[in-house]
Amino acid sequence: MHQLTKNVYVETCIRGCNHGFVTTSDGVVLIDTPHKPSDALKLKAEIAKHGPLRYILNTEPHGDHWTGNAFFDVPVIAHEGVRARILATDMAAHVARVSTFGPEEPNLLKGYTPNAPIITFKNGMTMHVGNHTFEMIHMPGHTMSQAAICIKEEGVVFTSDNIFNKVQTWLQEANPDLWLMSLESLRKLKEEIFVPGHGDICGKEYLNEQGAFIQEWKAYVKDAIDRGMTRDEAIIKLTAFTDRYPMDIGQDGMSPAVQKMNVGNLYNYLTGA
Ligand SMILES: [Zn+2]
Repeated sequence: MHQLTKNVYVETCIRGCNHGFVTTSDGVVLIDTPHKPSDALKLKAEIAKHGPLRYILNTEPHGDHWTGNAFFDVPVIAHEGVRARILATDMAAHVARVSTFGPEEPNLLKGYTPNAPIITFKNGMTMHVGNHTFEMIHMPGHTMSQAAICIKEEGVVFTSDNIFNKVQTWLQEANPDLWLMSLESLRKLKEEIFVPGHGDICGKEYLNEQGAFIQEWKAYVKDAIDRGMTRDEAIIKLTAFTDRYPMDIGQDGMSPAVQKMNVGNLYNYLTGA
């Protein structure tokens, strides 16, 4: 965990998404949670040094952002799509997968019940805790349920997986056009310090690179469709971006599978399937 601003602490160096917490005059607010239960417990001990935890905010519906919610006894707030996705998750399969992440995980996952969001929003929501303002803004793209979370007094935005800073971009269920619009929404924010979903802390200078890569992905799959490739052929043949960026921590060896998911999703998107 490292201190990013006066009251924002972030973790960008362990398996799972980036997450962080904000120390306010009335307790701590956690944004996203670790993928590994053992990391969630370490984080819990760390947060306890800074005061009582008040809320968890989740930025998106993928398990690397919410699995750790279960290890904290506070209400969770997120876009309504995040709640729906967690409730629809095959929890036995989810627990079986997370159990493989380390030797301590199977025990910690006994009796696992997710702490799903009980307060949800559609377009946005503002929350005031102590002297801090948390502005949650729906920004569909990487999924339809992404939210950016601005911490106004700190000049910091947790962008969710709409930004993968110099690590492979997952487009397995993305809407690339909405994603590009959300990048422009991020550009318009007053806040300048970005905590991306994955990769190191960045700023608005990275938006062009992220946007260009999404455009490039779209053009690459569109070209294959225009040349008459079927979806199955495209999934096998389109491998050009496999080594463009490294995978994020803990995702070693997953690049070929991610490329295939990205191609399959963009093929469906571009053909209206
Ligand atoms: Zn994600």
